[in-house]
Amino acid sequence: MISGRLRKTTYEVDLGALRHNIQAQRSALPAGSRILAVVKANAYGHGLVPVAQAALAAGAAGTCVAILDEALELRDNGIDALSLVLGITPVEYANVAAMAGVSLTVGSMDWLEEYHRLAQANHWTKPLKVHLGIDTGMGRIGFTDIDQFKQAVELLQSPEFEFEGMFTHFATADSTDQTYFEKQVTRWQQFVDSLDELPPYVHMANSATGMWHREHITANTVRMGISMYGHNPSGCDIKENLGLQPVGTFKTAISFVKKLKAGESVSYGATYTAKEDEWLATLPVGYADGYSRSLTGFKVMVAGQFCPIAGRVCMDQMMVRLPKYYPVDTPVVLMGKSGQLELTPTDLAKQVGTINYEILTGISNRVHRVYK
Ligand code: PLP
Repeated sequence: MISGRLRKTTYEVDLGALRHNIQAQRSALPAGSRILAVVKANAYGHGLVPVAQAALAAGAAGTCVAILDEALELRDNGIDALSLVLGITPVEYANVAAMAGVSLTVGSMDWLEEYHRLAQANHWTKPLKVHLGIDTGMGRIGFTDIDQFKQAVELLQSPEFEFEGMFTHFATADSTDQTYFEKQVTRWQQFVDSLDELPPYVHMANSATGMWHREHITANTVRMGISMYGHNPSGCDIKENLGLQPVGTFKTAISFVKKLKAGESVSYGATYTAKEDEWLATLPVGYADGYSRSLTGFKVMVAGQFCPIAGRVCMDQMMVRLPKYYPVDTPVVLMGKSGQLELTPTDLAKQVGTINYEILTGISNRVHRVYK
């Protein structure tokens, strides 16, 4: 995968803001609470390894990833802290996790029994670290039945395993209606109460729970994702209360400028036609960089002003209408702050009909990440 270092389109990552966000969440939690930094999907687009390093240095106890390959990338870069794979890992690859000291989520007896059988047959001696996933209403993965869960806990006492954690995930923690959330909390508590002894990591809170439901947290660890990157899990439905600072700024610079004459059209489909003579800038960024084609009709920030996108966003370039002439290399902010102006991932998400998470994770690897 090529990262474009020789063009002026970058995603600038402010690791100071990331540290600020982690500390803001930590100081809002009871003393002794731990944070697992959720760095899956290339750290929500911000860069897996640099973000994991910064989060751990800022006091995170470990990381959460989605797939085993992401955890192995951390290990290959010398990051030895706890790393939990949140998805289900195919059982035939689980010994790779055990050997690397990576923790896996297990959500069924079948998986656990199969691993146990394989470990005994193949003399895998390094214990596999396990977090039992509990499905309290998300409907995605995990134990739904307390008896099965207790059987799993029993099997985890064998030497092939280390029972490191248990967790659940909420479906509606970012909603103003708390009914479903409270049902999930009640169900979670039944699982917690069913054990005489809890594993070291007990976690149920994502960003939204860490922000708006702190009084409900009956666990010692928070999995911090979107809020660590400075963004509101609800978009803008509920006000955030941690004083978050946005971590990423998506930037580019004008690569070409011309005077468009009245009646001339721009981009594929010739959907935009100038009504009068105007200045038009071309930007070296497009949908292959994660700037969605559905942002056609949206705006960017040039020299402290919003400028409308003219015509369709192309794969690698797009055009914007300027209020006056600006030279090649004039900086342009696509997402982030520009003087007094700001375009948030939520603003872009609304335009596209999605959520801020998808905007962030969609910024492609071709966009060079710059850290400050
Ligand atoms: N925990 C699990 C299981 C997740 O799937 C996610 C994200 O999708 C998170 C935690 C982090 O969520 P958030 O980014 O809302 O904090």
